[in-house]
Amino acid sequence: MLAAAAVLAVPALAVPTAVGAASQSAPSTTAADLPSGNTAYRTLADYEADLAELVADHPDLVKPITLPFPTTSGRTVRGVEISTNVNADDGKPTFVDVGMHHGNEFPSGELTMEFAIDLVQRAAAGDREVTRLLDRARVVVVPIVNVDGFVRGRRQTDTNVDMNRNYGLGWLPISTGGAAAWSEPEARNIEWLLSTRQAVVFNTQHTCIQVVLYPPLQLAAGPAQDVDRLHALASEVASIYGPGYKALPSAEDYETTGEAIDWAYYATRGLALTSETCPDAGVARTYGTQVLDVYDEHREAMLTMLETAADPDQYAVIDGKGPKGAVLRITKAFDMYTSPYAQPDGATRPSSFTTTLTSDLTLGRNGKFEWAVNPSYRPIPAYQEDGIHGFQTGFYEEPWILTCERPDGTVLQTVPVNVDLGETVTVDLKECRREFHQARP
Ligand SMILES: [Zn+2]
Repeated sequence: MLAAAAVLAVPALAVPTAVGAASQSAPSTTAADLPSGNTAYRTLADYEADLAELVADHPDLVKPITLPFPTTSGRTVRGVEISTNVNADDGKPTFVDVGMHHGNEFPSGELTMEFAIDLVQRAAAGDREVTRLLDRARVVVVPIVNVDGFVRGRRQTDTNVDMNRNYGLGWLPISTGGAAAWSEPEARNIEWLLSTRQAVVFNTQHTCIQVVLYPPLQLAAGPAQDVDRLHALASEVASIYGPGYKALPSAEDYETTGEAIDWAYYATRGLALTSETCPDAGVARTYGTQVLDVYDEHREAMLTMLETAADPDQYAVIDGKGPKGAVLRITKAFDMYTSPYAQPDGATRPSSFTTTLTSDLTLGRNGKFEWAVNPSYRPIPAYQEDGIHGFQTGFYEEPWILTCERPDGTVLQTVPVNVDLGETVTVDLKECRREFHQARP
């Protein structure tokens, strides 16, 4: 009787959902099912439940991330980190993928969340391609970075700021830019994420245009130093999404200021992309056309970004052998500048802010490590202390400061490391090994 009742209950529950999905996705019926099986947009509770379930069901593959700053209205911003043996401190290169800078761009959160579920399902099922990628790289996924905006179904945060105009590099006090560069906790969360993760590739997902954008945001800045690499990845991703999609510098789509990708690239030298998906002109914007019909291409696009993050030509490596249990830390801190704007004293000049990049690695087993990091050579941005200097072609020679520490933070050895893309630099940590094993005073 119980079994029969359960069988009967299935169509009764499923029919309304299926009917709704079919009517929403009327223009195309070719889309495959989503990894989650969903047929409608998630609520915030649905996102939180899905993230928690991934962690609970696959603790070796998925670990939770809580971003450090609650939103203006006190909500928590959550994500997950996905990799083979995710809890190991193994120095793998990282792909950071985030959705919903704009709280009303619901498909951007759905696509981002579905990719996380997809990766985990495929890895758990032994899919070869995904397993190979997750053996070599980490994926950090934060589906909703502007949680307040999402809950209210609007673009801005609860301070009425477009968080994708609030990042510090080149920031201007436009009406939606916030009271100051980095005034919004939502933008500072992404600053934290990228300042601590050595992301080789950073993707921020949006709707609704058919473009894949890369820095810079302003034509006056001139081409990014890594324009060839940026364009190669963006155009590969654009071609996956479809023939209508273009890859171009953000400034050539339209000029803006204070967006995530500009700060991300010029601070970390990670490849930073804004991916905007949208149905073709004339096609109604529904869950079906914006999520179901796009997802298969989105998966391929994200796997391409992950493949790029896992490519040794796209990052630098620091390797060596230190004492087991020691903490290695790489740090660099530098000033960056907003655009010039009218200051309270009446003068027009940029404001400065300090970006501090810092990552650490706890040495296990035999103390050997191979650490994928962003290159130490940082692209000189257009925004300078005395204004905008466009068409920069150089890099700052600005070494990573590597410290070898006891777990309590006592620094035993400091080594500056200059390392470029595709290079490996071996550091000699003899001094740290010797000191580490001596009794403490
Ligand atoms: Zn957007």
